[in-house]
Amino acid sequence: MEEIYLDANATTPVLPQARLAALAVMGEAFGNPSSIHGSGLKARALMEQVRDRARRLLGAAGGQLCFTSGATEGIQTAVLSALTELRRRRDAGEIQQPLLLLYGATEHKAVPEALRHWNDLLGLHWPVRAIPVDHQGQHDLAWLRQQAPQAGLVCTMAANNETGVVSDLDGIRAALADSSALWLVDSVQALGKLPLHLAERRIDYAPFSGHKLYAPKGIGMLYVREGAPFTPLMTGGGQEGALRAGTENIAGIAALGEVLRALEAGDTFANQETLRAHRERLARALTEAFPGLLFNAPPSLCLPTTLNFAVPGLASRLLLDLFDAAGLRVSGGSACSAAKAQPSYVLEAMNLPAWQSSAAVRLSFGAADSSELIERACARIRACGDSLRAHGLMAHAPASNTMPTGLVTRFVADGACCYLVADATHRHCVLIDPLPSHAEQITQWQRRHQHTLVAVLATTRRTEHAASAAALSAAFPESMQALGSVDPLGWPQGAQQIELGQHRITRLASPEGSADAAAYVLHTPDQDQLAFVGTSVMADAGSLHWLTQALAPHALLLPGHDDAQHFAWTLGQPLRPKARHAEPEALALSRERWHLQFPTSPAPLLVDVREPYEHALGGRPDLGPGVHPNNVQSVPLGSLLNALPAWLQLEADTPVLFYCRSGNRSAQAARALRRLGHANAWSLEGGLALWTAQAAPPALSR
Ligand code: PLP
Repeated sequence: MEEIYLDANATTPVLPQARLAALAVMGEAFGNPSSIHGSGLKARALMEQVRDRARRLLGAAGGQLCFTSGATEGIQTAVLSALTELRRRRDAGEIQQPLLLLYGATEHKAVPEALRHWNDLLGLHWPVRAIPVDHQGQHDLAWLRQQAPQAGLVCTMAANNETGVVSDLDGIRAALADSSALWLVDSVQALGKLPLHLAERRIDYAPFSGHKLYAPKGIGMLYVREGAPFTPLMTGGGQEGALRAGTENIAGIAALGEVLRALEAGDTFANQETLRAHRERLARALTEAFPGLLFNAPPSLCLPTTLNFAVPGLASRLLLDLFDAAGLRVSGGSACSAAKAQPSYVLEAMNLPAWQSSAAVRLSFGAADSSELIERACARIRACGDSLRAHGLMAHAPASNTMPTGLVTRFVADGACCYLVADATHRHCVLIDPLPSHAEQITQWQRRHQHTLVAVLATTRRTEHAASAAALSAAFPESMQALGSVDPLGWPQGAQQIELGQHRITRLASPEGSADAAAYVLHTPDQDQLAFVGTSVMADAGSLHWLTQALAPHALLLPGHDDAQHFAWTLGQPLRPKARHAEPEALALSRERWHLQFPTSPAPLLVDVREPYEHALGGRPDLGPGVHPNNVQSVPLGSLLNALPAWLQLEADTPVLFYCRSGNRSAQAARALRRLGHANAWSLEGGLALWTAQAAPPALSR
C-alpha cells in the first residue's frame, strides 16, 4: 500500500534536488568554509549564496542571518540574547522593576521552555506569562497592548504548528508600538507559506527550521535584526562571524539552498491558490467521510496546508489507528501517549470543549504535494469513513447495521475490566462489573450490536456499579426496565443459572456465603470455562483454594482489574505479583531473528490484533519469500479471551505471530498467550510499519 504522508507540519521529505545538492557537497565540494584554500573558498561561496537567497526571501536585507541546527537552537539563542541584555540593563540600574516575559499561549513548547530555562539560569526570576488567545487561536491584542509597557521580551509565532492559525503580526507590531520589549517571532511554520517582511515589521529575532520545508533535519537559520542584542549560545572557532561556533553543516546548507532556490523560482511548490484548493478537497472528503466532523480552527484563518479537526464520539487514537491502517500518516492534534491521549494544550488555550481538545487530529500536507496525491488521499479518507460505517462505529449508523460479535468482549478503563457476554443467536447479553468509566465503550458496542441486556452482575458490592445504571439505561433503555428482581450483586432472585443460548452462566458464591462477593462462571458447549473472578476474590490464598475446588484446572480466570494486561490466568499459573513484568522484551520478534531462527514449517498463525475497522483497510506483514501463514485471524484485544482457548490447543512448535500498528497491542497479546502456556507466541517488533515491504525511495532527479 502506498504511504501517503500528511504530516508536513511535523517534518517533510527532502526534495530530490536538495538531496542531490547535499550529496554533491559530501562527495565533492566538502571543504570547510573556514579554510582559506580553494576547497574552503568554494564551500564559503556556496554558503554565502544560500544566505543571500534567504535574505531576499525573508525580506531581511540587513541584520544577521546565521545558520543553526534548527529552530530549537535558534529560539534558545534568541532568548539567551534578549535576556542577557535585559539582565545587563537591570544590573546597570536602567531597569528598576522586574519585566514580563510574554509568550503566546499556543506557542511551540520550545519557546516557553527556553524562557523559563534562561530566566532561571540567568538569575532573573521574572514573571513568565502566556498571552491569551481567543477561540480562533488569535492573540488577545488588547491584553497584549495593556501588558506591553511592562514587557521585556514578547514571543509570538507566525503560524501555529497544530492548528495552522496564522498570527496577526501587524496587529502585534502595533500593540507593541510604544513598548521597548524585544520581539521574537517563531517563523518555522511560515517559511515558504507566508510573506514575512522581517525587517519591515521590525522583528528582532526569527528562527527557522529546514526540515519543515523539504530540507534535511539538522539545518536551520536565525535572523537577528540590526541592533538587536546578541549573545552566542556556543563559542569556539569564531564561525558564522562568531555568532555561532562550530564547523557549518555545509551539506545541510546546500540542501536548504536548493529549497530556497525552488521557492524563489516558483517552479516546485504550489502557489497559495492551489494549496487552498487542495485543502478544500481534503476538507470535503473529511466532512463526507465523518458526518458531524468539526474543524478546530476556521480554515480561512489558517495556513492553506493545515486542517485540525475532531469527530464527535471518535477518539483521536481511534482515528489515528484508522488513518494509519489506510496508509495515511497524520498526527494527533495532541501528544498521544500509548495509553491515553493528552488533550492538546493549544486547543485548550483556545477554550475549545474538552472532547474536542482530546479528540483532535491534524492533517498537514506539503507545498510540493501533487494534485494526484491529494486526490488519492481523499479516496483513502473516504475509505476510512466507509470502514467505520461498515463496522457500525459511526454515531449516525442505522440501528439495523448490526455486526457479528464474539462471545466475550472486554472493556478496560484505567485498568478496571468490565466483561460483556453475548449470545449472538438470540442477541442477548450479560454485563459483569460495568463502571461509569466503561459507559462510552458499552454504548458504542450496543450501537453496533443491538442486544437485549438480561443481567448486570457485580463480583463485589461497589457504589460505582450503581452509578453506572444511568448510563446503561441510556444504552439499553428497554432492557434495564425489564431486569426484574435481583440480589445486591445483580443475580436474578431464585435463578440457578443464566442461560445465554448454548452458553450458561453460574454463580460461585464465596465460601463464607457472603452476599458481598461472588465469581461467575461461563460454561461453553466445548467444556471451556471462563471465570469472572473480580478483584477481591484473587487477593487471598483462601479464595484460590475455593476456586480450585470449583473449577477445572484449565479454566481461564478473568480479573476485575488488569493494569499489567494479563488478560487471564489459570489456577495452574496463578497470578504472582513479582512476576508481572517477567520476560518483557524477548517476545518482540525482529525481522532478522525471524529469518535466522524460524523454520518455515510449521507455518505460522498470523493474528491481527487491530480493531476490525483497521483490519478491513488492509496491511499484512510480509514474512518473506516462501512463508505462507496457514491462517490469518483478526482478533482485536477486546475479543482476545474468545480465541485464547483455541490457541492454547495448538502444537507447541506453531509460531503465533501477533501484529498491530506499532507493536504495543500485539506485545500484550503475545505476553498473555505465553503466560498461559503457549511459549511460541511473538509480537512483530515495531508493528506493521517495519514488516511491510519497503517502497524504494523516490528517484534522485532534477
Ligand atoms: N517551532 C515550531 C512552530 C515548530 O513547529 C517546531 C517543530 O516542531 C519547532 C519550533 C522546533 O523546530 P526544530 O525541530 O527545528 O528544533
